Amino acid sequence: MKLVRCGEFREEQPGVLTDAGERLDLSGHFHDWDSSFFGGDGLVRLQEVLRSSRESLPRFPENVRLGAPIARPGKVICIGLNYSDHAAESGMPIPAEPIVFMKASNTVVGPYDNIQIPRGSKKTDWEVELGGVIGREARYLESPGQAMAHIAGYALSHDVSEREFQLERGGQWTKGKSCDTFNPLGPFLLTRDELAQPHGLTMSLHVNGNQRQAGNTSTMIFDVSTLVHYLSQFMTLEPGDLISTGTPPGVGLGMKPPQYLQVGDVVELEIEHLGKQQQTCVAAS
Ligand code: ZN
Repeated sequence: MKLVRCGEFREEQPGVLTDAGERLDLSGHFHDWDSSFFGGDGLVRLQEVLRSSRESLPRFPENVRLGAPIARPGKVICIGLNYSDHAAESGMPIPAEPIVFMKASNTVVGPYDNIQIPRGSKKTDWEVELGGVIGREARYLESPGQAMAHIAGYALSHDVSEREFQLERGGQWTKGKSCDTFNPLGPFLLTRDELAQPHGLTMSLHVNGNQRQAGNTSTMIFDVSTLVHYLSQFMTLEPGDLISTGTPPGVGLGMKPPQYLQVGDVVELEIEHLGKQQQTCVAAS
């Protein structure tokens, strides 16, 4: 299934995208695609609703805004330098253990929303990433083999980053990762039953039509199962949490000379089977 959320920002209603491109309105049956939905076997109940009443479900209008495919996550966890070529272009060693940082969860926006260039920013950068959404609480998992059962599905995640805030202003990376609109997500959440293997997916990102990133989820240093198992040793992963698993080479920071996003730039990104995003850069008001 492809879960979507449709409507104005923070007023989105839950829906399902069909293979025919229709957006079924599930708001009469479910409150939202949130923690209680995923944690309460919601995906099983959703399948039952689709089986019994698919034809009678209302449709969202075609021009409706697409929001992020999940409600605001309890937390957004990101993995740094998880592709060896990206570590090299960033001038950093290949990590021996996953590099973990947090991103404020109110950064999550829809896949076609504008990116706001923060006030004072000179170094706003792009990062196409595979996002995994937790479906079942994960705490002290005993092995990576247990991890998959705790994943609800996958979505295209844009880990927008301000490099000066991240790297030149002291302290941790959080400041450069948490500005408003810095995490476009979607267009849909693809449930795990439809993507048994999240590795081997091509990924790309263009700025103003010029290709900047090209990669494949097969070249992650730490794969999704390893990451979920690893993270569960340090924190409880809750249903609806988002994990962004790192970016392949081609970010602006790694270009010679570095290039960053400017007001008016258009960013397009894509991961095989997970759809496309497009954002226009605007100045933060
Ligand atoms: Zn990232």
